[in-house]
Amino acid sequence: MAKFQAPVNKNDYIDVTFEDLTHDGNGVAKVDGYPLFVPNVLPGEKAKIKVVKLNKGYGFGRLIELYEESKYRVQPECPIYKECGGCQLQHLSYEGQLIAKEKQVRDVVERIGKLENVTVHPVLGMDEPWRYRNKSQVPIGEHEGGLIGGFYTRRSHDIIDMEKCLIQMEQNDVILQKVKEICSQYGVKAYNEQTHKGTLRHVMARIGKVTGEMMIVLITRTAEIPNSKQIVEDIVKAIPGIKSIVQNINSKRTNVIFGDQTKVLWGKEVIYDFIGDIKFAISARSFYQVNPDQTKVLYDKALEYADLNGEETVIDAYCGIGTISLFLAQKAKKVYGVEIVPEAIEDAKRNAELNGITNVEFEVGEAETVIPNWYKQGIQADILVVDPPRKGCDQALLDTIINMKPKKVVYVSCNPATLARDLRILEDGGYKTVELQPVDMFPQTNHVECVALIELK
Ligand code: SAH
Repeated sequence: MAKFQAPVNKNDYIDVTFEDLTHDGNGVAKVDGYPLFVPNVLPGEKAKIKVVKLNKGYGFGRLIELYEESKYRVQPECPIYKECGGCQLQHLSYEGQLIAKEKQVRDVVERIGKLENVTVHPVLGMDEPWRYRNKSQVPIGEHEGGLIGGFYTRRSHDIIDMEKCLIQMEQNDVILQKVKEICSQYGVKAYNEQTHKGTLRHVMARIGKVTGEMMIVLITRTAEIPNSKQIVEDIVKAIPGIKSIVQNINSKRTNVIFGDQTKVLWGKEVIYDFIGDIKFAISARSFYQVNPDQTKVLYDKALEYADLNGEETVIDAYCGIGTISLFLAQKAKKVYGVEIVPEAIEDAKRNAELNGITNVEFEVGEAETVIPNWYKQGIQADILVVDPPRKGCDQALLDTIINMKPKKVVYVSCNPATLARDLRILEDGGYKTVELQPVDMFPQTNHVECVALIELK
């Protein structure tokens, strides 16, 4: 076989023009059709780059000199933007981010979904695209005896200490600072990945934006936290408004954050929040959308696509704590929700009760197992809502949808690539993608959320 020959050599300095932005925020320039990915550049920009790595179908470069700037380029707001891996698009204006995200959705729908002429609406963005996150979850490390916490640097496992994070609600910054200070004072050791020693692995802070209620989760390797009683007392004193302090124990050598065991150290097991008029109880292990303002926009769109008249049976697959289910239940005859995390289903049931909603049923299990069982038992959905994690829907679930033939599927997705893959499968199974509405749940980052309306042909 002929030796692979890229049109450039490693360590070459070349002048290029960037055409595109990848889903992870790198600029793309092509040399004789060979793509080079370069961080911190934008489409339309001309630059000198150094070729740093060559693979078979693509290579990587480093920016050396920018000749021509994009009109969408801005100065990043965050002082640690370059080192931190959390945001990828702070050097792109918010207007530019929305344009890039719309294009990203359109591209995968065409390339992976092989769908032509599907309407992709402009992204619904935020008026104030900062300080939006209600949840912060940071790894803990140590520096000169004190605890540090923040983000892993890009492509590494070194922790940068973070005093503030501009996409977090301010309260979460305060909580993290206080917890680091207090735990340091009492000599708590950070967990060390290499030696598998130490105690504190991660700290999670979550706040109900409407209620102001706050929860702290200390994720530890060991069941015991030295001086835990004093630590908890000091945290409660330092953070007015705190409602719940929880410990989660993860004694495994793993980069999975949470372990199986959760116990309340102080206060309640849950905090409460509202989305629209519906009140939600949220426990430590439950998924809850991180951008409360945009969640309302997203759910309203899902509800609009479902277009319920009160007669329908609806299934909400991947229902979490029943957020979408309860929104749907107000307009449907009956809603069935399924979710894999038992604590989330407990929350979902509690949430139905809390809001006096009686036409819902929730079951713990895999959507791909439970929904086929329901179908066998004669539970037939008119409308199916799916909101899967990044890997998208399981093939078994898609097969069940194709057999069950609900007249509509409303697909909420946090990963356009797997959404596009699943849209193709549904198209081949007799469905038609009517339209897609991207919603910006994650400003400054490369993530895009999307709702798709899919109808039986
Ligand atoms: N619709 C909810 C949750 C969406 S997040 C909301 O908007 O709040 C996706 C959810 O799917 C998570 O709660 C996760 O625990 C759950 N999940 C992951 N894999 C699953 C599976 N195979 N079957 C059912 N639920 C699953």
